[in-house]
Amino acid sequence: MDARSNPYAAVRFPRAARGCAVLFVLCSVVSGALAGDKAPWFPGQPETKRFSWAGETCEGCDALAPRSEWKAMASLAGLKEIRFLLTPDESKGAAWSYAPNVVVLAPSALKLPDCQLAFVVGHELVHIAQRHFDEDAHNLLVLSGKPANWTRTGETALGLLNFSLALHLSATWHQQEHEADWMGALLAAQACKCSLEKSALSYLSEDGQYGGGLASAHAPESERIDSLRPFIDSARKLASRVP
Ligand SMILES: [Zn+2]
Repeated sequence: MDARSNPYAAVRFPRAARGCAVLFVLCSVVSGALAGDKAPWFPGQPETKRFSWAGETCEGCDALAPRSEWKAMASLAGLKEIRFLLTPDESKGAAWSYAPNVVVLAPSALKLPDCQLAFVVGHELVHIAQRHFDEDAHNLLVLSGKPANWTRTGETALGLLNFSLALHLSATWHQQEHEADWMGALLAAQACKCSLEKSALSYLSEDGQYGGGLASAHAPESERIDSLRPFIDSARKLASRVP
C-alpha cells in the first residue's frame, strides 16, 4: 500500500479529470454500459512523461500465480503483464508495488478475507496504472531544478529525493494514495463483487496486524475511510452487476 516504501510513486490525472471520473462511474453504472476489458470509468493513461525503469530486486521474493480476480482487476485498469511476487518480509506491510509492473504481497495479505485482499491488490494496481512512480520522478526533476532531459531513468530521478523534497511531495503522495484507495475499491467492487464495507472499509478499520500495510506515508485510517464514503453507492452498484 505504500508507494514510498519502495522509492516509487506518482502520476496523477488533473483534479478536473478526477471529478469527471467520479461522474463517469455514476453515469456508466446508471447506463449499464461496459465496453471491452478496461472499465469505462477508469481514467485513461496519464500524460506524464514515461521514464525507463530498471526494476528493483525483490530480495527473497518468489513468483506468485495471480488469482483470476486480480487479473480481472488489472484488465479493468487497462493493465497487462503485471508480475505478482510473494515476499517473506512483513516489514513493509501487507503489500506494495514498484515500477514498472510489480505487485508484491506479504504472507499476511494472503490471509486477508477475499474482499479485503481484493482491495489491497486493487490499490496497488492503481499505483501502477496511474504511473505514480513516473509522476514522482518527474516532480523530483522539477523540484530539483533539473532540466527535463537530465535523466530518462526513473531510479536516477528518484535518487534526488531528500527530506526537503519529500516535504514538498507529501501533498502529491497523499493524493496518490486517495486515488489508489477509491479506484482500488471500485476495481474490487466490479471484479470481485465486493461492497466497500467488505473491502476497503473493512480493511482500513482493522486495528490489528492486517492494518500494518498502512505505512506512515498514508493518511490515518479514519481520514481514508471518510474519503471513501462517497463511493459506497457506486461500489454497491458495480458489485451488483451481472458480469
Ligand atoms: Zn498506496
